[in-house]
Amino acid sequence: MQIVVHYAEIGLKGRNRPRFEQLLRANVERALAPLGKTRISRLYGRLLVELHGDARFDDAAARLQRVFGVAFFSRASVCAPTLEAMRAAVLEHVAGLEFGSFGVRARRVDKSKPWTSETLNRELGGAVAEQSGARVDLSDPDLWIEIHVTSDRAILLHERRPGPGGMPVRSAGKLVSLISGGIDSPAASWRMLKRGAELIYVHFHSAPYTSAASQDKVRDLVSLLADWSGPATLCMVPFGELQRTLVAEAPAAPRIVLYRRFMLRVAEAVAGASGALGLVTGESLGQVSSQTLGNLDTINRAATLPVLRPLVGMDKAEIIAIAERIGSYEISIEPDEDCCSFLMPRSPATWTRPDPVEEIERGLDVLGLVESTVKRIERERIGPNR
Ligand code: ATP
Ligand code: MG
Repeated sequence: MQIVVHYAEIGLKGRNRPRFEQLLRANVERALAPLGKTRISRLYGRLLVELHGDARFDDAAARLQRVFGVAFFSRASVCAPTLEAMRAAVLEHVAGLEFGSFGVRARRVDKSKPWTSETLNRELGGAVAEQSGARVDLSDPDLWIEIHVTSDRAILLHERRPGPGGMPVRSAGKLVSLISGGIDSPAASWRMLKRGAELIYVHFHSAPYTSAASQDKVRDLVSLLADWSGPATLCMVPFGELQRTLVAEAPAAPRIVLYRRFMLRVAEAVAGASGALGLVTGESLGQVSSQTLGNLDTINRAATLPVLRPLVGMDKAEIIAIAERIGSYEISIEPDEDCCSFLMPRSPATWTRPDPVEEIERGLDVLGLVESTVKRIERERIGPNR
């Protein structure tokens, strides 16, 4: 079985284009690998994927729909680029189909052929009308028959399906994503994968002071995201000791902001060790008290790398729609004990300023706390769950 994969945005990348195509090709290959042997070749700005005999189109489609950079794809049959061969291929293709109206869309990629696209449309359309009795409708037919002609072959495209769009994962560089067991951070991670980032995940937990439930949730979430990206690294960070120190040595009101500032510092250490050039969080302006502009500003200043917040301007309902689409919602709503509910102050500050918080931190061994936390990180490699 053959499939033609079309890409959109990566086509605009000028001199970088070959690199994007290489990555897309590698990502398509990895996504389809569980279906058996595949051969992928380049085809006038598209990819031609050849799967072994008994692979099913629906199985391949389910996988291609999770490869970022794919705009859409179609099942394809290939024949010689002659009128007779194309007529035979088209007639064979439509023989088993039911349709009242149809349209032919021919495209000559190789302009040296003796006929124009219009000639092809007319020739092939006439043959189909005669065999099927269906009428031609070029605005909204039941069936589009699409055929592309290159110098050495003609490719008949059918069953066009949409891909997820975006850019090939790994085309944009590495980021460290702070992932909780909540709804927002998996959706934020997905948005950044879609823009071509490669993610290293960092999760903070308070075990043994709380249960290990959040860790299992995060493993499931990362596995789900690995469906879109391939295997990924998850760093489990034991955060309870550091939290206990903050509780003992710092005032209660800005505690959540302090937790967040330390999370950014630890995440930045992970980034430094792995060549990542930014951090990702699931914050959305004003969603909860730690996400007021005042608190976001105070939190942000603990980091030197850019903190990317792909959800910052989205409503909760819009975020939930993403979570439902990718299947993370079900996992995220399972109950757990988040590390931030551990030692939560009774009335957290809803608007902090950097100066007083930095003053508090001057009384702490910030570097030592970060270092001893980073030392206890456990790395796991997590693959897709299908
Ligand atoms: P989420 O739904 O992602 O948990 P939230 O609405 O609960 O977010 P906060 O608790 O303020 O919001 O967390 C803001 C962001 O901080 C999260 O989106 C995530 O990126 C990061 N974060 C929070 N808790 C953790 C954690 N335990 N481990 C890793 N990152 C975390
Ligand atoms: Mg949360």
